[in-house]
Amino acid sequence: MRRAWESQLDNHDGAVADYIPELFKANPNCFGMAIATVKGKLFSVGDVTVPFTIQSVSKAFAFCLALEIAGPEMVASRVGVEPSGEAFNAIVFDPETNRPFNPMVNAGAIAVAGLLYEYLGDSAFDVLLERFSMAAGCDLALNEAVFRSEDETGHRNRAIAHLLLANEAIAVAPDKALDVYFRQCSIDVTALDLAWMGATFANMGTNPQTRHMAFDLAAVRSTLAVMFTCGMYDYAGHWAYDVGIPAKSGVGGGIVGVVNRQLGISTYSPRLDAKGNSVRGVGAFKALADDFGLHAFDCTNVGSSFITSLLR
Ligand code: GLU
Repeated sequence: MRRAWESQLDNHDGAVADYIPELFKANPNCFGMAIATVKGKLFSVGDVTVPFTIQSVSKAFAFCLALEIAGPEMVASRVGVEPSGEAFNAIVFDPETNRPFNPMVNAGAIAVAGLLYEYLGDSAFDVLLERFSMAAGCDLALNEAVFRSEDETGHRNRAIAHLLLANEAIAVAPDKALDVYFRQCSIDVTALDLAWMGATFANMGTNPQTRHMAFDLAAVRSTLAVMFTCGMYDYAGHWAYDVGIPAKSGVGGGIVGVVNRQLGISTYSPRLDAKGNSVRGVGAFKALADDFGLHAFDCTNVGSSFITSLLR
């Protein structure tokens, strides 16, 4: 893992997100990487205890929660599972259904947040935070400053929420859906937290250390499928080709990847490429996937003996 991390140390490409003003305060040089195994072991290198907001990485976990709480049919009536090929904040809907293409882009994630509010009311965010914390194995908290910054400047997301209501993809007031959405994006995590959250998905919804079940097994399967096809914005195809594991990135600079039944992997580095993915994160994941043979379709599986040793 250190080799994969070191391979990106001289990479200064990309820029810290500034469209949410508070995000621009991140230290551009921070860079951490962590691996948590389903056996409860943790490996890390670099800045793995620096907090940053989870942003779009939350979309995968919120979708998983919605599948459990509202049921797959209800969820399917509000949001699709098809890659959009568009930017994360694109104002596009599936022309056949008038629904967002998938839950990993903003429109789909706001529809999911609306669904959580519809079922859970004002406790929606608290329930979500509790489940995210169970997945991380520690108490996560809201970053108030980032939440306020997003709430004040998120005009594009406001427009999307109103279109969702017009399209009947949410059944609650747009402000209610947005409140859940902005809050879920503004949860502080570290690279260590994200690695454990990934390991919880890898471990069929149960945190490998605490043994608490954070997510429903069937919902995890469906979520990993959507992460695989849609998790890395409009880079998802390249990611599946080069890295080959389900993953989700966020504009805060985090990426979580899941090697099913084996590992949760995370990176944190806030400089983003034009598509919104962490530059060093993508580079480090590629290097790690090559070194360990992580790609789901890697027939040579060069890393399997290494991973097997990790999993003992
Ligand atoms: N809260 C961010 C937004 O809605 C999330 C974007 C992202 O991480 O892709 O713009």
